[in-house]
Amino acid sequence: MDFDPKEKFWTRFPPEGTKTTPPHQSVDFRWKDYCPLVFRRLRDLFQVDPAEYMLAICGNDALRELSSPGKSGSFFYLTQDDRFMIKTVKKSEVKVLLRMLPSYYKHVCQYENSLVTRFYGVHCVKPVGGQKIRFIVMGNLFCSEYRIQRRFDLKGSSHGRSTAKPEGEIDETTTLKDLDLNFAFRLQRNWYQELMKQIKRDCEFLEAERIMDYSLLVGVHFRDDNTGEKMGLSPFVLRSGRIDSYQNEKFMRGCRFLEAELQDMDRILAGRKPSIRLGANMPARAERMARRSDFDQYTSGGATHPSHGEMYEVVLYFGVIDILQDYDITKKIEHAYKSLQADPASISAVDPKLYSKRFRDFISRIFIEDG
Ligand code: ATP
Repeated sequence: MDFDPKEKFWTRFPPEGTKTTPPHQSVDFRWKDYCPLVFRRLRDLFQVDPAEYMLAICGNDALRELSSPGKSGSFFYLTQDDRFMIKTVKKSEVKVLLRMLPSYYKHVCQYENSLVTRFYGVHCVKPVGGQKIRFIVMGNLFCSEYRIQRRFDLKGSSHGRSTAKPEGEIDETTTLKDLDLNFAFRLQRNWYQELMKQIKRDCEFLEAERIMDYSLLVGVHFRDDNTGEKMGLSPFVLRSGRIDSYQNEKFMRGCRFLEAELQDMDRILAGRKPSIRLGANMPARAERMARRSDFDQYTSGGATHPSHGEMYEVVLYFGVIDILQDYDITKKIEHAYKSLQADPASISAVDPKLYSKRFRDFISRIFIEDG
């Protein structure tokens, strides 16, 4: 019964306050919680403290509005503590989320490494005499002590998939797209294998729910510190990332990965949550490639035998976002219309099965097992 889409509660918030609601200075409004017991369980599963959550969303700290990153018309806000992202959504998107909620719940319970967006709540606010505003609260993928210096929103399609900005205006806040991607990401073998397994499971879940148009959002932090120095390694070996022999390079890489894992072990021993997990805080190497728009090196096999480009030690953050578009009639029309003008396989609106295949194929080319 908790999953029933009709399971929603309205609370009135009059400005003067009530026994259970605080006084406030805005107009009288009503607040709706959708499937509150399910989301309470989900927050619990994702280890979100109820008090911290309430204070972050409803406390006195202002939310930070992001300059409309998407083209859907949604508004995005970040809480002060950077942990939660609020996105305004259409009624149809709420419907999709509530429809898939039972299987979403099952999926994230079954796979703790799932990369699909972590949903913490769905709500609606209606000021008296005003319009309803529906929004979801989700985990901010880039909540990190590191600066995210590059961000990519990747769908595996090419049509219209580049940022409209000229090179000089691209900065840390720009969301770059498929055709702008100029890196391949090298992951340690066990993480690489885990990623491939999990992406398969996540895509199967989304496909079964007839979802499409989702993206893999990737955030990159470039480590320019000489981590090895702290471990007493010779500065000669460490010199500004340029390592002379293959053996030394392998050794260094091992040290960096090991140090990150050891730091994480310290956290666990101190009773804190591990900070490295699939899609968060992952030590990796980024190898510079030609941009896809310059030369499509990501076609069959290309990225698995890349020419040796510059290599950067990085920390990666990633997850699957924008999972509330189902393949409805609008998409069918969009597909028919767009395919008149472009190669149907290159546009983003293909059916969920094709979408998921193209998405997975792309991911398996941009991530490489670091041997
Ligand atoms: P579009 O229709 O253009 O694909 P949209 O308006 O539906 O976009 P999303 O794709 O959900 O919006 O998100 C747009 C951008 O917002 C992303 O590219 C990313 O930069 C940021 N974003 C969305 N969700 C998250 C998240 N969970 N964590 C961090 N950033 C996010």
